[in-house]
Amino acid sequence: MPMRRSPKLRPNGWDALVILAVVLLAAACAVTVWGRGGGTGELTAVVSIDGREVERVALGSAAGERVYAGNGYTLTVDFEPGGVTVREADCPTQDCVHTGTITRSGQSIVCLPGRIIIQLTGGPADASAPDVVIG
Ligand SMILES: [Zn+2]
Repeated sequence: MPMRRSPKLRPNGWDALVILAVVLLAAACAVTVWGRGGGTGELTAVVSIDGREVERVALGSAAGERVYAGNGYTLTVDFEPGGVTVREADCPTQDCVHTGTITRSGQSIVCLPGRIIIQLTGGPADASAPDVVIG
């Protein structure tokens, strides 16, 4: 009696392997897209004072005005969905104020006297992705 013969076993095994491969491939693609930003990431402002990261502000959801103090100076920073601006500062150089609004990932506002750095990260990929124009 050919009890051990099971013609369906081999095809089923292959099916499982193919499905596994497809799932792995899809997962790899998803990870690649996420890693590059892919236009799905939210633009986030990273605030560092004296070399230490003190806060991350997601521009889409947590917009508003915040005040940071560093090295005896005070910066009033405006977070908006479209960018970040140092609205007011009592530092002597005023470079941070003159920088204006930063809107793209990789841009930063630096206040040397206050040792405060505000850097944009995340958001759409810079090189390949189409520019998003925000009025
Ligand atoms: Zn400054």
